[in-house]
Amino acid sequence: MATKETLRRCGSAECEEGKQREYRWVVVLTRCEVNCASVTNTFAIQAKENRKTPAQTSKRFIALEVRGAIAPQKVPVNSGGVEKGNSPAKLLSVLKRIIMMQTEALPNTGATRETNGTMKCLVKEDLNKEGFSLRENQDQPKPGFGEVKIRVLATAVCGTDKSIYNSTKSEGIRREMQRYLPQGDNYRPIVVGHEFCGIVEELGPGVEAMANDVPKHLLIEAGDYVTAEMHLSCGHCALCRTGNEHICISAKVKGVHQDGCFAQSVVVPYKNVILLGKDGDTSQIPPRIGAMLDAFGNAVHTVAEADVAGKSVAILGAGPLGLMSTFLCRAFGATRIYVTEAADLERREKLANEFHADHFIDVSKGSAKLHELIGKLESNSNGVDVVLEMSGSLPAYQDAFKIVRNGGKVILLGIAREPLPQFDIANGVIWKGVTVKGIFGRKMFSTWETMLSLIRSDRLDLKSKLEKVVAQKFYKLEEYKEAFDVLSTGEELKVIFSPDGSLCK
Ligand SMILES: [Zn+2]
Ligand SMILES: [Zn+2]
Repeated sequence: MATKETLRRCGSAECEEGKQREYRWVVVLTRCEVNCASVTNTFAIQAKENRKTPAQTSKRFIALEVRGAIAPQKVPVNSGGVEKGNSPAKLLSVLKRIIMMQTEALPNTGATRETNGTMKCLVKEDLNKEGFSLRENQDQPKPGFGEVKIRVLATAVCGTDKSIYNSTKSEGIRREMQRYLPQGDNYRPIVVGHEFCGIVEELGPGVEAMANDVPKHLLIEAGDYVTAEMHLSCGHCALCRTGNEHICISAKVKGVHQDGCFAQSVVVPYKNVILLGKDGDTSQIPPRIGAMLDAFGNAVHTVAEADVAGKSVAILGAGPLGLMSTFLCRAFGATRIYVTEAADLERREKLANEFHADHFIDVSKGSAKLHELIGKLESNSNGVDVVLEMSGSLPAYQDAFKIVRNGGKVILLGIAREPLPQFDIANGVIWKGVTVKGIFGRKMFSTWETMLSLIRSDRLDLKSKLEKVVAQKFYKLEEYKEAFDVLSTGEELKVIFSPDGSLCK
């Protein structure tokens, strides 16, 4: 149990001097009647108060609040055993008992208890209609058993969100979003979005017990700055049990199959929450970067699987993921890096060069130049050692298997909108002895450990590179049309929402 103290003013004269302490736990002491100095003083207050109310001398009173569940109120400390001078741990254990009594007495408890009203969010109402809709008064999500509620600070838009936005053009995404519907059930509108960072607001029932053995410095508590792995795994299938949770047989994605994070609040399982900074500390990883760690993780996973040290690499597609992969390949020791792109060429070429690509090739009018260049420079073998397909565009798949050398690797991250019409598997894969690998999400949780240590290390200057991929402006949820417009015109590569508007200037 955490007994960390932070200052919080209750409004009384003594508090104005900044003396009150609050316990960062489910229970927060919010008001004192007389004095605010310390725990023992808090008990002194209770004693004083008892004297003021002789009718209730058998009970001590403290003012407390259960976060998100009960309004501040006075409750009797009648569990016994609490005396002036008791330790903070003792106080908390008594408070905990009181809270349990209180919440049990309420009609709605635990997973179904009432929380803090409504929120703004973006919802996909109908898969057969383009766009999203803004809901201003959606009920806030309530953390169920083992879940955590997070106030969203910043949330980034990724390619999948664009596909969902333009769902009439992508049969694949329509099918995917209905994958887990019971047969005969119709699509139910969901809150979209799956890349975010935020502040833990509430721990659901059972979380505290789950976190019992977590070392203190890794404990995730209310007020901490976090992100989350939004792919949910069952934990019980053979894949989950063999270190492959990211390809669990019933993997679900928040924002695709369940409510996501283009919202002021989101709930996620406790085990999926990733700590970025204790006590809301965003200094190491600013929200602009915290919001897109999901995407950065895809690039880290892809490049790590490709094992690029000492190898030539072709990166097909210079969107945010292709560009992130470019600087990662360089950092991981690739010898020669080719980057291709068909749109928004000027800016993407500039960024690819800044991220140390050796060759940027415009494939908007076909890929003859790419083949020619690789034919010339990779003549020791018949192609590049590694191809990273990051674009999802159909011609790129043809290129990938033509430019990979015999015995090389093709790593596929881009998602083809439709099945490949013609694919020469004999020439492209079999006779060349090529290894093909698909990448889905991030490895749980080794990719997260790798990317956080990469970002926290100052050596690679990753933060400033990541910042270059993102739009300067933070968008409000209300501005979602503008945000998706600038993405579709290529005016920006990646945009971030500030759902409560606090990051918008
Ligand atoms: Zn994504
Ligand atoms: Zn599983």
